[in-house]
Amino acid sequence: MAIVSSQESSKPEGSKGQSHSQTAPVARPLSQANSQEVASLLQPVAVDEERLEKSDDKLRPQRFHDYIGQRELKEVLNIAIQATKSRQEALDHLLLYGPPGLGKTTISLILAAELGVNCKVTSAPALERPRDIVGLLVNLQPRDILFIDEIHRLSRMTEELLYPAMEDFRLDITIGKGQSARIRSLALQPFTLVGATTRVGALTSPLRDRFGFVQRLRFYEPEELGRIVWRTAEILKTQITQEAAEEVARRARGTPRIANRLLKRVRDYAEVKARGEITQRIAKEALELFNVDPCGLDWTDRRLLTVMIEHYNGGPVGLDAIAAATGEDAQTIEEVYEPYLMQIGYLNRTPRGRVATPAAWRHLGYQPPDEQLGLLVDST
Ligand code: ADP
Repeated sequence: MAIVSSQESSKPEGSKGQSHSQTAPVARPLSQANSQEVASLLQPVAVDEERLEKSDDKLRPQRFHDYIGQRELKEVLNIAIQATKSRQEALDHLLLYGPPGLGKTTISLILAAELGVNCKVTSAPALERPRDIVGLLVNLQPRDILFIDEIHRLSRMTEELLYPAMEDFRLDITIGKGQSARIRSLALQPFTLVGATTRVGALTSPLRDRFGFVQRLRFYEPEELGRIVWRTAEILKTQITQEAAEEVARRARGTPRIANRLLKRVRDYAEVKARGEITQRIAKEALELFNVDPCGLDWTDRRLLTVMIEHYNGGPVGLDAIAAATGEDAQTIEEVYEPYLMQIGYLNRTPRGRVATPAAWRHLGYQPPDEQLGLLVDST
């Protein structure tokens, strides 16, 4: 399997559709980390450092047996791989959805490795002009995989070019203008489109309907993340105790990308403060320094919940009101912060708005309204 570079859009690890230089990143001491970097530790999207770092490719599982968790998804894909291999066909198109950092790109690269084909990696914002997608499609080899990240952001023209390409492996190109305009059809090699999105609801239904598989990636269990941290530590040749790996995993918001990032920062701290070995005490100290609490909440999560509790008595409150009160972007709240808060049972989405659950009240040191009522009843 080779990751083929496609025009300016195909880049390995996290660089999806963005140009980057080939120079190796320079390691910096921990003390030079600025507050923005600390704040971005728990963002599941790839940060610049990860986009630049070729070494992050080492961390990506290469085959399904290295890919930890997502058992049902792996089962579905394994069956599909075996069936298509025996029929010598291209795998049906696959749509992967779920929050960032859960392993969508990794799945696509593994699929290519398992099928013995190439994978071209790009993202919708890099396919602005129709000729970008045309260039990619005509250069595909039989059964290759084309991975498009953030597929909900495709332009209409690009999306319409994709319909016949996905359905009949054909490109319909309009040549000329006005009365002399003609449509020319171009045959394509059979290929597999793997689309990834954080917002499956934002896809148009004609596009969604053209995928043979629509699969959700779920947050990882702490035990699975613990194994991911352990595996990454081995690759990075870092000594870590089992308890420390579990400590990092517990605070990683169910997301492998965050687990790997936290581990790297804890490793920096251990090298400076403890001659390299990561024990549970060192992991805790480092994570506290980075403002990551035992549930993996950061400053923004706590602020969102605090505003809901203090200003709106826990809700229900509309997303726009929370965004205005916290100064955060509504879409970022919805796509980055809320999924994890809902997953751990600290926030509910109801038809009347967002509600902070009693668990969230207690976590932040407040008494939930029901319990306040109970105390009043008890004391009478
Ligand atoms: P997404 O495309 O969903 O944003 P990626 O596929 O880029 O996420 O994964 C982010 C990082 O997390 C990768 O660098 C990879 O090393 C790691 N990762 C993701 N899923 C797994 C997994 N199941 N097992 C081990 N590492 C994983």
